[in-house]
Amino acid sequence: MLNFPQNLAGVYIDGQWSHGPQALTVVNPASEQVLAHVDGADESAVDLAVAAAQRAFGGWSGTPSVVRAGYLRAIAEGVQARRERLIQLQACNNGKPLFEAGIDVDDVIATFNYYATLADGLDERQDTSVPLPTDEFSARVRREPCGVVGLIVPWNFPMVTTAWKVAPALAAGCCVVLKPSEVTPLAELELAAIIAECGVPQGVFNLVCGTGLAVGAPMAAHRRIAKVSFTGSNAVGVQVMQRAAETVKGVSLELGGKSALLVLEDADLDLAVELASGGGYFNAGQMCSATSRVLVARPLYNEFLQRLKARAEAIVQGDPFEPGTEMGALVNRAQYQRVLGHIQAGLAAGAVLVTGGARPAALPVGYFVQPTVLTDVPLDSALWNEEIFGPVLCVRPFDSEAEAIELANDSDFGLVASVVSADTVRAETVANALQAGLVWINAPQVIFPQTAWGGYKQSSLGRELGPWGLQAFQEIKHVVRASL
Ligand code: NAD
Repeated sequence: MLNFPQNLAGVYIDGQWSHGPQALTVVNPASEQVLAHVDGADESAVDLAVAAAQRAFGGWSGTPSVVRAGYLRAIAEGVQARRERLIQLQACNNGKPLFEAGIDVDDVIATFNYYATLADGLDERQDTSVPLPTDEFSARVRREPCGVVGLIVPWNFPMVTTAWKVAPALAAGCCVVLKPSEVTPLAELELAAIIAECGVPQGVFNLVCGTGLAVGAPMAAHRRIAKVSFTGSNAVGVQVMQRAAETVKGVSLELGGKSALLVLEDADLDLAVELASGGGYFNAGQMCSATSRVLVARPLYNEFLQRLKARAEAIVQGDPFEPGTEMGALVNRAQYQRVLGHIQAGLAAGAVLVTGGARPAALPVGYFVQPTVLTDVPLDSALWNEEIFGPVLCVRPFDSEAEAIELANDSDFGLVASVVSADTVRAETVANALQAGLVWINAPQVIFPQTAWGGYKQSSLGRELGPWGLQAFQEIKHVVRASL
């Protein structure tokens, strides 16, 4: 079983751990037991962290990129060495099953290694000449780290969302102030310890735990933070953008989704059911990329629904530490109540419950909600349009490909989509018509550090991962010289 102190320091600034004034209670959502208290900070710690990052910036941005790459590889190795502990920390803090937590940790390792590879030759690629229509001048474009960056992350994939920001920021030569979610800080505290052990110079990486108002809001407004990269809800994303506007700082946002899975009439039904189940119930549906609207060609609809119902009812739910557990708990009581409230409101609006919709009878303790399937969800209901962030799939038939595409695109969001079809040419054409940042065809939600993450419309501002994730932490400078 895991050992860690009951009172954890929640602040790491300039290579030193300290305790902030506000105790954050960290709960195991599967047992409802208090795991620990983390001493979170306030605005004064943000000021100290930013000052430390500013002092470190000259040295870190001037460090050869190949040396920065070495630190990133060392962090990946450090995460690999503590893989089991990190899996357990996430299982107990997030309520997610061990195999899901393992996928998260492996993603973190892959992300640090990927950005190490990009950092390797970054100095050599830093300047590129720009062709001009005259010999009188020459020009080059130069990419430089944008400075001290503020990284604010949510609770659903705490380590992954953190790695997607910290790795490219450090690779680019930026210095970092990271704010984990106050709900799930344990994995990031461990990551900070790993970064410290790797000898990353003091002040390059700083962590400030605390609530959104005490720590996140001052970060968004801080004059000396050049850029804020935020992942979380749309409501808070808008506030971050508004605060950042006061100092005209750069903003990247990764927000919500209401994504669609399209099952075309030539789809393999078993595959379609498996992908619907994965897209709706992985991480107990607490995914910005959840394909929570399932659109099925009418000839397949009844059979699909029956098989999906059977699959949902067969999912093993319970203790995240039991090896056979397929689905864990929701992250906290507020989320549990919110999801059940959405289901109830949907039923009141006319939706029909196929299965689930409540706490599993066998699990009286913990924030568990059954894998849920609903049909006849009104197109103007909150259930159909808003992000539920729980294990809830809304299934609807369609009569033509054009109708399916229109339904899928009829959303304020546009993060991801999935298409299931035996005809890959057709599936590719449908993928091209979907307003989404990432489309999977006949595939589970695989994510590679090489491919961009982010979406259309209100899902995102900017992109993470790939070279785009690195460029998000770079400024562009042109130098134009008169020819002698
Ligand atoms: P949240 O918006 O409540 O909180 C996210 C982070 O912002 C937390 O660290 C929180 O403390 C902080 N915060 C809260 N108020 C703040 C404020 N006023 N100023 C600055 N920071 C503040 O989100 P959550 O509930 O932790 O996470 C769930 C949400 O995250 C969902 O909406 C989900 O779609 C989204 N999400 C998006 C992606 C993506 O890649 N698009 C990935 C994961 C999660």
